[in-house]
Amino acid sequence: MVVRNVEAGSTVGITTEKSDAVLSVDEYASTGTDGHWTGFPKTSGQSLSYWLQGVRADPLLDHRTTAALPSYADTVIIGSGITGTLVAKHHLEAWPEKSVVVLEAREFCSGATGRNAGHCKPDQWRGFGKYEKRFGAEQAMKILQNEQKTWEDLVKYVQDEKVDCDLWVGDTLDVPMTKEVADMSKHVFERYKVAGGKVDHIKVTLDPAEAASISRIKEAQACFAWPASTLQPWKLTAHIMRSNLSKGLNFNLQTYTAARKVVRSEENLDKWVVRTDRGNIECTRVVHATNAYSAALEPSLRGLIRPTPHMCNKVIPPSTFAGSKALQNSYGVLLPDGALFSINPRCTADGIVLFGGSNPGQLKFDEWLAKHPERCTDDSLSGIKEVTDAVKSFAEEQLEGWTEAATGPGQLYDYSWSGIIGRSKDGVPFVGELPGLPGQWVCAGHNGHGMARVFTAAPGLVRLMAGEEWEEVGLPDVYRVTGERMERLKAVANV
Ligand SMILES: Cc1cc2nc3c(=O)[nH]c(=O)nc-3n(C[C@H](O)[C@H](O)[C@H](O)COP(=O)(O)OP(=O)(O)OC[C@H]3O[C@@H](n4cnc5c(N)ncnc54)[C@H](O)[C@@H]3O)c2cc1C
Repeated sequence: MVVRNVEAGSTVGITTEKSDAVLSVDEYASTGTDGHWTGFPKTSGQSLSYWLQGVRADPLLDHRTTAALPSYADTVIIGSGITGTLVAKHHLEAWPEKSVVVLEAREFCSGATGRNAGHCKPDQWRGFGKYEKRFGAEQAMKILQNEQKTWEDLVKYVQDEKVDCDLWVGDTLDVPMTKEVADMSKHVFERYKVAGGKVDHIKVTLDPAEAASISRIKEAQACFAWPASTLQPWKLTAHIMRSNLSKGLNFNLQTYTAARKVVRSEENLDKWVVRTDRGNIECTRVVHATNAYSAALEPSLRGLIRPTPHMCNKVIPPSTFAGSKALQNSYGVLLPDGALFSINPRCTADGIVLFGGSNPGQLKFDEWLAKHPERCTDDSLSGIKEVTDAVKSFAEEQLEGWTEAATGPGQLYDYSWSGIIGRSKDGVPFVGELPGLPGQWVCAGHNGHGMARVFTAAPGLVRLMAGEEWEEVGLPDVYRVTGERMERLKAVANV
């Protein structure tokens, strides 16, 4: 049975005409006896993100350093997103003499990193309430401090290395859209401040008229502004990977090579064998940088990291939001029930506006996904009507002057793509050595927020691999993968 149109809520029309997504579903997604769905990366028919569309002639996409897969490496890193690429960078710096192979199931960096909404936005107050409730004030503070450091490290790297990746640095605006959300935001902000959180870099506007004028959003109720960035994530990751490749013969990238299983070596009991479609690699250490797909390869992560499709919309703004009138900030538009639009206006690049986040349409899409768990790793999804409609209504009803200009072909709601978020059960990543599997390491489960986490989590993982204690590495304790955390989370239905 070929399913050409899939319904999301009440709407029809998601997959491309010839999508084999449903026909070949077993190829990449399956459920275990525990009922948790997971899957390998889909290898055909994926949607192309705006980032991936723009680099079609880049030879890194299908790079293989050697024609044949090496049969041995000191370390095999599985996944070439920002995590795998950065782990490789720091591994090469720590042990230039050790050999590293990076395996990527599809094109280079074609997972969440190559498909995200382009924000590196350190949470500087908003998540405090949620994290405090879940982990206590001290850990909540550490998470927010870590995000700030991550952003600073990323910006420093891009500036020092002069990376061509459309980096923008400026004020991001969080804009509550109802009085209730504004009150809640003010409350969380105050709690964070009282707990000792650093807030002197955050400009707070609680007057709705002033907030509307700053944000250009008609019904804005408040506005919180602080420094953050947007960037082209594929180009940043590609720059780091090219630098890895320039380091010499000990480094090998193999795209279009899916790892299917990691087993103990029968000959050398202290070694692992990574089985791929193209042969096996024996190694001392394995790094799972597979994010959303982690549980497909490592069963102990089943139910702990859940692959979840997410959408991003590309919009070419009308003339009232172009040129000198282009939006000059990135945004988090805060709606009731935790819904959110992220807006990335790429104001120092091409001015194309990307709408992402868990907008009200994405929430409906999530309901549909709950009924279609076999689509959990399906990034062929595109044009989800509810998500695009929510973007349209927001832009038309709330952005001051959006509908005033006549528009022609090539403008407005152009296209949307999907990517697979690795949702961890408690909302924070798993970092460290996998319990009971000495030599196997993980840095995954970054949710929709990896760009504000991985630039510290990946080097942190390499320091742990080098034998440093968790406490020395400086990551929030709640990111640590422990047997206790895994068992505790498996025992609860949802956090
Ligand atoms: C639509 C969308 C919007 C987002 N927007 C933002 C944002 O604006 N800001 C932000 O901070 N975060 C955002 N995120 C989340 C962010 O992109 C991720 O947290 C981050 O990119 C994770 O990086 P990663 O390298 O760990 O994972 P990935 O980039 O997913 O990399 C994992 C790689 O592993 C490969 N792989 C998996 N299994 C195997 C296997 N068995 N064998 C070989 N290769 C394998 C995959 O193909 C993939 O390339 C968004 C995510 C999505 C989907």
